[in-house]
Amino acid sequence: MNIKKGRISMVNGPVIKGTGMKGFQMREMVLAGPRRLIGEVVSIEGESATIQVYEESEGLKAGQDILSTGKPLSLKLGPGIIGNIFDGIQRPLKSIHEMSPGFLPAGIGLISLDEEREWETKLTVSEGQYLTQGQVFGEVQETASILHKLMVPPGIEGKVEYTAPDGSYNISQVLVRLRKPDGELHELKMVQEWPVRIPRPVKERQPLQKPLITGQRILDMFFPIAKGGTAAIPGGFGTGKTMLQHQLAKWSDADIIIYVGCGERGNEMTEVLEDFPKLIDPRTKRSLMERTVLIANTSNMPVAAREASIYTGITLAEYYRDMGYHVAIMADSTSRWAEALREISGRLEEMPAEEGYPAYLPSRLAGFYERAGAVETLSGQEGSITIIGAVSPPGGDFSEPVTQNTKRFVGAFLALDRSLAYARHFPAVSWLSSYTGYIDHLADWYSDNVAHDAFAIRTRMLKLLHEETKLMEIVKLVGEDVLPDDQRWILEVARLIKNGFMSQNAYHNEDAYVPLSKQYRMISIIDYLYHRGMQAVKKGIPVSVVRNGELFEKLFRMKYNIPNDRLELFDGLERDIDSFYDNLENKYSDDFEKVKQ
Ligand code: ADP
Ligand code: MG
Repeated sequence: MNIKKGRISMVNGPVIKGTGMKGFQMREMVLAGPRRLIGEVVSIEGESATIQVYEESEGLKAGQDILSTGKPLSLKLGPGIIGNIFDGIQRPLKSIHEMSPGFLPAGIGLISLDEEREWETKLTVSEGQYLTQGQVFGEVQETASILHKLMVPPGIEGKVEYTAPDGSYNISQVLVRLRKPDGELHELKMVQEWPVRIPRPVKERQPLQKPLITGQRILDMFFPIAKGGTAAIPGGFGTGKTMLQHQLAKWSDADIIIYVGCGERGNEMTEVLEDFPKLIDPRTKRSLMERTVLIANTSNMPVAAREASIYTGITLAEYYRDMGYHVAIMADSTSRWAEALREISGRLEEMPAEEGYPAYLPSRLAGFYERAGAVETLSGQEGSITIIGAVSPPGGDFSEPVTQNTKRFVGAFLALDRSLAYARHFPAVSWLSSYTGYIDHLADWYSDNVAHDAFAIRTRMLKLLHEETKLMEIVKLVGEDVLPDDQRWILEVARLIKNGFMSQNAYHNEDAYVPLSKQYRMISIIDYLYHRGMQAVKKGIPVSVVRNGELFEKLFRMKYNIPNDRLELFDGLERDIDSFYDNLENKYSDDFEKVKQ
């Protein structure tokens, strides 16, 4: 390739300008200055171009070289991704740290996957076979949990002329040679490259029909997210966004988790790095890192790389989706990402729109969330990507542009409420201002796999909670005593739903993750108590005795006292409820008889 060369004419933080840039392309990756800092062309005007630099640009000077690479910012996709920790442009932080502890040196180049490591490889195609794009030609056991499928890159097809024997190979050795239709030879290796800003192709998008099971009751039973769907978690500082994202990363039933720590404090990322390797995946009984990729671009790292980090994350997600995996990606926080976008846009002297964000903020957000979905892959497999983005509006004010625009593009909106967090009700997901658009998609699945009345109970319980909110307005003015007994009963049960069911302790062994089967037993027994109690109230029995302290205590404590694998204990609870209300009703009907006589 003929390397083009321009010159730096101006440096403004992460944004530089170049002259003599004839022939450079939009979105092309370039190398700037003597240390060859990685950058990307973001605008071109005649022979000058503007470039965002992904590394600490201190020390760059006018007059220094800008070299073309002839390709857009791309990732290397191959074995070695899972379990790794990358920065915003896929540089492996762990191995860099071993080389130079303490900081990320600028100018180390675009290193990503370990080129030397050998992988036990099994080739699954033979000479003479015709391979099309996306087809699997070999397999590598990447971690104990993940079988890495080696795929023909998109856009490539041809007849197999050579296959390497099974054995140990590194990522850049030739494994298969294809004769393409145009007669040229194409070499297949373990690794392929893909530009981060372009979605990888699929055969077809599929309707969303299955939930991402999270083990978090307020999500799974009240605001479920579909596999392949999108969700936002907006919340002010300290409302529990990061905790909830960690819970989702730990417990969701995705095959692969991509966690993007985006512009948040470094110590939160450290927590993830220390926590995750110790945690055991409840499904595979193995370390969670064997299915997890971390991308860390903390607040002290260059902003341009932060802007790139969510694209790096989603591209890795697409690559594993293409193998037929269900991938979930968490981004914490997309607000910090949007701020990076704003900072760069400001330095580019673009016309600012709302609150200084560029006018293309909505289309960038849409473009990110659109890369979620359930698909049929090029090779005919089923795969999906679920995106869950935290949003941290300044001052917790949801009317600001990032929250508002995100709301337009996501299927579920899990609003965290400051007053709940103050009251230590966690997860602080508001049942009044959250919503999910996936109920219709998931109705059949819940009916077949949880219980036919799971969503009917959900609707009843949500209605009770809305009722409670209205009643509390009255209570605030005149106190609870003036309410009729049936309404006071609603208040009592609403408290049970909130404290006994919705609040969930992330630090408690039994409560951190709860299977759907137990979630259903919990919510249906509250529903049952509600009905039995309401019947009693309707018969004229005073609410003060209908609300039995001992029964309520048992239901408040069931999340801790009934182990996740001892669901038969709910039968006993049900009998307790029956015998209490049977007795109560008998006693009162006798009393009522006496009164009549
Ligand atoms: P944010 O990211 O929104 O600023 P964090 O996720 O850091 O907030 O949460 C702040 C604090 O709230 C945590 O340190 C923890 O003490 C508490 N918290 C949040 N969620 C839970 C939970 N599910 N269970 C127990 N405590 C929680
Ligand atoms: Mg946080």
